[in-house]
Amino acid sequence: MPKKALYNAARYRRAIVRAEQFGLEPCDAGFDWPAVLAWKWHAQETYAGDQEAILAGHGATLVRGTARFISPDIVEVDGTRFEPDHIVLATGSEPFAPPIPGIGLADTSNDALGYPVLPDSLLIIGGGFIALEFAAVFATFGVRLTIVSSGPRPLEMLDPDIAAVAVSRLQALGVEFWSDCRMTGISGDPGSLKVAFTDADGATHESIHERVLAAIGRRPAIADLDLEAAGVEVDGRGHIVVDRFLRTTNPRVWVAGDAAGGMMQTPVAAYEGRTVAESIDTGQPVEPDCRAVPTTVFTTPQLAQVGMSEQSAAEAGLKVRIARTDFSYLAAAVVEDERDGLIKLLFSEEDNHLVGAHIAGPTASDLIYALALGIELGATDVDLKRTLGVHPSYNEIINHAAW
Ligand SMILES: Cc1cc2nc3c(=O)[nH]c(=O)nc-3n(C[C@H](O)[C@H](O)[C@H](O)COP(=O)(O)OP(=O)(O)OC[C@H]3O[C@@H](n4cnc5c(N)ncnc54)[C@H](O)[C@@H]3O)c2cc1C
Repeated sequence: MPKKALYNAARYRRAIVRAEQFGLEPCDAGFDWPAVLAWKWHAQETYAGDQEAILAGHGATLVRGTARFISPDIVEVDGTRFEPDHIVLATGSEPFAPPIPGIGLADTSNDALGYPVLPDSLLIIGGGFIALEFAAVFATFGVRLTIVSSGPRPLEMLDPDIAAVAVSRLQALGVEFWSDCRMTGISGDPGSLKVAFTDADGATHESIHERVLAAIGRRPAIADLDLEAAGVEVDGRGHIVVDRFLRTTNPRVWVAGDAAGGMMQTPVAAYEGRTVAESIDTGQPVEPDCRAVPTTVFTTPQLAQVGMSEQSAAEAGLKVRIARTDFSYLAAAVVEDERDGLIKLLFSEEDNHLVGAHIAGPTASDLIYALALGIELGATDVDLKRTLGVHPSYNEIINHAAW
């Protein structure tokens, strides 16, 4: 929610900057950063308030405080003890701090969501979705950005062709990318931080940045819970040991959401919460099925995917046919001059079922839902050819790609 509020402000700014192209009077798209932050706070507090009201409407009692186990059956919150029949751990995740000298000088994603003043220059450590989402926001508001990652390319978890669309857009906004690098240290004083890293050829680089943001991943936030007292086992990676029904090694304790360490996405957290509730309610354990969960990187343009990638299909020994088309001749893209988008659909060679979809382009976060539904319902290429899109809209791209 907070990040989407910033993303929206950036999206509108980019649109205003381009308005002249569509025949509108040019304007300077000036901005008031504290007002942008105020809108972000308003949006996130409104949403949080709605959630609390929904909980209260269902008869739930909300107790504010930090919970920890006293024994396998008892949870204590600020001196008050509870001994419920079932306990669901839904404590979320926290940023992972990489073992880099001086990492304490770097910000976390929580800090970046509330920078009171925009930095002049920002170096982001990490090339994942959090890095590229913040890059799209801050670059749009004029921050000089450098992204340094250890992987061979940014957004390794996405199809390379899809990721490349956003990387070149961000480069056009002035973002500098360094891949295959190893951070060697951060030093200096707040406001003037010296960052040192070595590149793929072993050459050393040093540069000064107003802020450094560590965005290299998140891990379950379970340190406060005293899971040893609970008899809940944790593995060497710091993940709670769970079975396929999200039961821990304590039969009374379940886990859901980021704390479970699976796909760290809001809808997945809610879905896992519901399946755990259903398991508890019915006494019959239910297994969550996350094979067709759509995900989106809210960068520029949006990047979305669902189901298998070429790589995961190959690893599973599944032969796939790839249907791909770019947005060049799509009417909606021509009207908006957003013609650098791309869609790739993966069909099983054996039975022509849709098994994966990857999109870079405007509204990708909405388009991907139809394809998730397609995978869930066993759609084939013929189904997608027969299902026409609305003209002129971005959803026509699905039908175009299927042909
Ligand atoms: C920068 C960023 C951008 C993201 N963007 C997206 C996105 O676009 N789409 C998407 O789907 N997901 C996104 N995510 C991921 C998403 O935020 C999480 O997957 C989701 O919030 C997980 O929900 P949860 O309920 O498991 O945990 P959380 O939402 O983190 O909630 C955990 C709660 O538990 C509380 N808590 C922790 N420990 C204790 C304790 N000991 N006692 C009591 N309370 C405790 C915390 O205070 C918190 O209120 C993003 C995450 C980040 C960091």
